[in-house]
Amino acid sequence: MTNLLGRLALRNGAVSREHFDPELFTSRGRLRLFKRDEFTCWHCRMRVTEATGELDHIKPVARGGLHFADNLRTSCRACNARKHAKFDG
Ligand SMILES: [Zn+2]
Repeated sequence: MTNLLGRLALRNGAVSREHFDPELFTSRGRLRLFKRDEFTCWHCRMRVTEATGELDHIKPVARGGLHFADNLRTSCRACNARKHAKFDG
C-alpha cells in the first residue's frame, strides 16, 4: 500500500522530494498523523486503528496536492474508498 501510494505520487507528477515527505510512506509516519488526528476519521468521526486507518489527501495529488502532513488527514477505509470512487481523492 505504501509503495503503491509512492508510485501514484510519482505518476501524478509529484516527482521530487519537495513534493512529498518520505516518512509519510512509512508506518511510523502514518502513525504520527493518526495520533495527531486522535485516531478519528475526519469525515465520519469513526475511530480507526493503525491497521484500519488511511491517509486522505485534502487536495488530491492528481490536482497538485502534496504528500505532506498538512495536506493529509486521517480517514477510515470506507470514507477513503467512497472518495476514490468519485475520482476526487
Ligand atoms: Zn469515515
